[in-house]
Amino acid sequence: MSLSTDAPALTEPECTTVSNPRRTTLAGGIAGTALGTALDDLAARLDGGIVRPADQDWDAARAAWQLGVDQHPVAVVLAASEADVARTLRLATRLGVRVAPQSSGHGAVALGPLEGAILLRTSALSTVSVDAVARTATVGAGATWGDVADAAAPHGLAGLAGSSRTVGVVGYCLGGGLGWLGRLHGLGAGSILSARVALPGGAVVIASASEHADLWWALRGGGGAGVVTELTLRLVEVPDLTAGTLWWPRARAAEVLKAWARLIPVLPREITTVARVLTFPDIEELPPHLRGAQMVLVQAAVVGSAALADRLLAPLRGLEPVMDDIAPVSPDALGHLAMDPPDPSAGAAEGVVLATFGEAAVDAWLEALDGPACAGVVAADLRQLGGALSPESGHDAALTGLAGAVAAVAVAPVTPVADAAAAAQAVAAALAALAPWASAHQYANFVEQPADEETLVGTAHDRLDTIRLSYDPDGTVLRRHGG
Ligand SMILES: Cc1cc2nc3c(=O)[nH]c(=O)nc-3n(C[C@H](O)[C@H](O)[C@H](O)COP(=O)(O)OP(=O)(O)OC[C@H]3O[C@@H](n4cnc5c(N)ncnc54)[C@H](O)[C@@H]3O)c2cc1C
Repeated sequence: MSLSTDAPALTEPECTTVSNPRRTTLAGGIAGTALGTALDDLAARLDGGIVRPADQDWDAARAAWQLGVDQHPVAVVLAASEADVARTLRLATRLGVRVAPQSSGHGAVALGPLEGAILLRTSALSTVSVDAVARTATVGAGATWGDVADAAAPHGLAGLAGSSRTVGVVGYCLGGGLGWLGRLHGLGAGSILSARVALPGGAVVIASASEHADLWWALRGGGGAGVVTELTLRLVEVPDLTAGTLWWPRARAAEVLKAWARLIPVLPREITTVARVLTFPDIEELPPHLRGAQMVLVQAAVVGSAALADRLLAPLRGLEPVMDDIAPVSPDALGHLAMDPPDPSAGAAEGVVLATFGEAAVDAWLEALDGPACAGVVAADLRQLGGALSPESGHDAALTGLAGAVAAVAVAPVTPVADAAAAAQAVAAALAALAPWASAHQYANFVEQPADEETLVGTAHDRLDTIRLSYDPDGTVLRRHGG
C-alpha cells in the first residue's frame, strides 16, 4: 500500500495495534487513566482541539444535527487539519479505541451512542475549491452541499447535491447521494473522482481509479473505509434549469398523487420530481397562507428551458394548482427547493425504496397518513427514481444505483406533544402501509435505523467486507450502518 507523498509527518511513537475483534466496542478494556493520558498527549499535538466530558462545551461538542441523538463518546476531537485526523487515528489504533468521523451529524441516528469511541468532528475542514475548466470541486471532509453550491454556481456548475444545503458532502456521497439532478447525472457517489483517506495507524492515501482503486470503489456508495479528509468531485454544467413547485390543498391529494404516479414512468431523465404531502408548522417565519396549512405538492427540477418544463408538467398543470412557482432558476436555488429545515432539529425520519408505484400504493399511503397512527407525520415524500439513478451494470462503484420506481420518506418531528418514541411510531406506521411495494434493497441515506449492509448494497457487500479488512482490519473507524 503506497502512501501519498504529502502524508502528514507524525511524531507520535509507532503504533502497537491492540487486538480488536471487529464490530465490538473497543474502549471497554482500556484503563481510564491510560486513555486520559493519551488524550492529554493528543490534545497537545492537535491543530484543532479536544473536548472531554468535564469541559464546559461538552454538550455542544457532542451534539449532532439530529438533536434527538444522545452521543456519549469518550472525547470529541475538533479536527482543524488532515494531520489532526491522522493523529487521532494513530492514537486510536495504538489504544484500540474506535473513531467515529462526523461532519454535520445528519446521519447520527444510524451510528448509535458512540460509547467508548472518539467522535472525530470534521466540520472545520470545510474548504471548497472549484476548477471551472476541469469541472471539478475539491472539498474538505466538513464541507456541506451549501458550501459547494455557493462556490460552483458562479461558474454555471453544480454538484450532484441532495435536497438540503446543510448535509455534508462526504457522508451523503459515501451513502449514495440522491438529488435533484440524479435522473440525468446519477448518484452523487458516482461523481467521486478521487479521495484522500486517512487510515488506522495514521497513513494518508489517495484513492482514485488509478490508485487504491478498490478503496475508491468502496467509497462510491459503499461507505468506504478509513476517514476521508478530502474528496474531488465531478461537477456538471447546468446551462438551463427550470424548477419550482405546484401546490394544491391537501384535500386534492388522491387525484394529484395518482396523476403523478401515471406521469412519472413516461418522463425523460431531464426532469426529476418529488410528490409531497406536507403539514406546515404554524410559525411566524412562514407567509400567512402557509402557516399551519396542509398541502399536496409536486416539485420539479428540469434540466432545460421553461418551455420543456411546461410540456412535461402539462398533465399536472391541468389539475389547476392553486400556486405554481415553476420558473428558470440558477443551480444554487435547488438547495432551497425542498424547504428543508436550515437548523438542527429533533425528529424521526425513515425511508423505503418501492419497486413499483401506482394507484393502489397512493390509496394505501393516504389512508395511512389520514389515520391516527400517523398523526405526527408532517412530511410524506415520494421521490421519483429511474433514469441515471437506475443500477448500471459495469459502473465502477459499490452502489451503482437504486432499483425502484420511487423512494418514500416520512418525517415526524419531536414536539411538546409527540415524544421521540411517538414520532418514530408515526413514521413506521406510514412506511408500513407501503410494505407490499417495497424493494428488497433499501437506500442507506434514507434508512435511519442501523441496517444490515446486504440490504443496502446487495452483492457488493462481500467485496466491501474484503476491502475493509485490508484497510481497517480491526474495524477502528465506525460507520453508519457499520454494525
Ligand atoms: C434534512 C435532511 C435532508 C436529507 N436529504 C437527502 C437527500 O436529498 N438525498 C440523500 O441521498 N440523502 C439525504 N439525507 C440523508 C443524508 O445524506 C445522510 O444522513 C448522510 O449520511 C449525511 O451525511 P453528513 O456528513 O451530513 O452526516 P454525518 O452524520 O456527519 O455523517 C454520516 C456518516 O457518513 C460517514 N462519514 C461522514 N464523514 C466521513 C468522513 N470524513 N470519512 C468517512 N466517513 C464519513 C460516517 O459513516 C458517518 O456516520 C438527508 C438527511 C437530512 C437530515
